Amino acid sequence: MSELETTKEFTGEMGFTFFVAAFCCLPYGIYNYYSNREERVICPECRETADMQASTCPNCQEDLDQYK
Ligand SMILES: [Zn+2]
Repeated sequence: MSELETTKEFTGEMGFTFFVAAFCCLPYGIYNYYSNREERVICPECRETADMQASTCPNCQEDLDQYK
């Protein structure tokens, strides 16, 4: 827990920091959102999404392995 015993004093200007956070970190936040999305397969039979590792569609039991 000792690594949590640190502190950093903010010496910058609050308005500028907010500006950077709002206009520079937002694209990063959006990128982060999209890059962290789970990749899923779409069942060609019913358009339902299924896990990448799933061999059958959880909705219509279509065999997804045949499309891989
Ligand atoms: Zn399906």
